[in-house]
Amino acid sequence: MKVFVASLATETNTFSPIPTDRAAFEDAFYAPPGQHPETPTLCSAPFVAARRRAREEGFLLVEGTATWAEPAGLVSRDAYESLRDEILDQLRACTPVDVALFGLHGAMVADGYDDCEGDLLTRARAIVGPDAVIGIELDPHCHLSDAMVAASTIIVTFKEVPHTDFLERAEDLVDFALRTARGEIKPVISVVDCRAIANFITSREPGRSLVDRIKTLEGRDGILSISVVHGFPAADVYDVGTKIVVVSDAAPERGEALARTLAKDVLGFGGNRLPPMPSPAEAVKAALAVEGGPVVLADRWDNPGGGVAGDSTFLIHELLKYPTVPAAAGALWDPVAVQFCHAAGPGARLALRIGGKVAPSSGPPVDAEVDVIAVTRDLVIPFEKSLVSLGAAAAVRIGELFVVVASKRAQTFHPDVFRNLGIDLERQKIVVVKSASHFHAGFAPIAREIIYVNCGGPYPPDPAKIPYTKIRRPIAPLDPVSEPVR
Ligand SMILES: [Zn+2]
Repeated sequence: MKVFVASLATETNTFSPIPTDRAAFEDAFYAPPGQHPETPTLCSAPFVAARRRAREEGFLLVEGTATWAEPAGLVSRDAYESLRDEILDQLRACTPVDVALFGLHGAMVADGYDDCEGDLLTRARAIVGPDAVIGIELDPHCHLSDAMVAASTIIVTFKEVPHTDFLERAEDLVDFALRTARGEIKPVISVVDCRAIANFITSREPGRSLVDRIKTLEGRDGILSISVVHGFPAADVYDVGTKIVVVSDAAPERGEALARTLAKDVLGFGGNRLPPMPSPAEAVKAALAVEGGPVVLADRWDNPGGGVAGDSTFLIHELLKYPTVPAAAGALWDPVAVQFCHAAGPGARLALRIGGKVAPSSGPPVDAEVDVIAVTRDLVIPFEKSLVSLGAAAAVRIGELFVVVASKRAQTFHPDVFRNLGIDLERQKIVVVKSASHFHAGFAPIAREIIYVNCGGPYPPDPAKIPYTKIRRPIAPLDPVSEPVR
């Protein structure tokens, strides 16, 4: 048995002003063959899962490249084609293979390629032939295209949003792929399209119950795996939208019937899918009304994980109206401010311009006299079983407000963004995080309360108002839709 594994992933926000080139992959995460760390990254967990099985079972595992760029704008043609061809050359060099595993995100859009993963997998299929197993792991915020489905033998997405289960799902994927190659199962992929942009989170209802129920349906009646593709609204491509994927063991009718039932359930969530999201002024007032602290304010639409800058200042300006309230905010992407703080050094006081640089939707910058509290060459924080670098970083203090600035764009996954720079979150009344949902597991244990805030962007918060030109219609909420389709 010979198994190949590779990973090529990013999530492209086609409305983002931040271009993505090859350096964006190499700077964020780039592991050539054999160099993948022992810990997984969000989209490269199949490496870790396949290594474990190869050690236990003695099959030959051929590792290709694994790479990830922090979500941003359009990927350059050269970046996509060079990384794609690097991986396909690695695959070609080790054929014949029984199994090819790909850790993908599923929402990569490059110049000239609206469906990068469909393109990659179609080419991979041509190399491995019709009988080899192609197994892919996707982020649920993907655009599931017909080309991706046609080229794949097995598709598994993470179930949880926030994504707490990317390694478990990779273990599922590897297990299904090995069982298929050994002739123990015959996976058939059934997809039902909800015809809706219906994102939800699974750390609260109604998403929580749906995932719990899905898990009870797997592993019996010929159903191997169920995935909910939430879709990624911040991209203008044909395949944006929410879809249900059921992988059955040679039971396509049962698979499709179940997918249709679950699609109707998701459509039935209606407008009740996301938590209420007050404005910055309302959110800070609400936080001040809570007894004790800290109250975590999640700047949901300035989440670097959604392809935007993470440098918006709306909540900081709001907090500065309450100069006696102890608070912390981070991590803002601002490499220039980081550089100035490193040059000035801890203990220095300087006039610093913070944030508000990338686009008008970032808001006006904050200009303030700051005290540099701490600096670090590399701010590394955990996210589930992976480690994420925010690069060189600094903590500054404006009166009672601490602000963390970082040189690499990444979400505020964990309180270590603050703690590693000496900020004690337990002493803060309000903590602002740049994250849409992945902060939850790390911050929930210390948060008195969590409030999701709508600062108006720069990620387009209301799909009904996004100027799509390529999306398949009809689709809710742009059009009235009542029935899922095949
Ligand atoms: Zn995601």
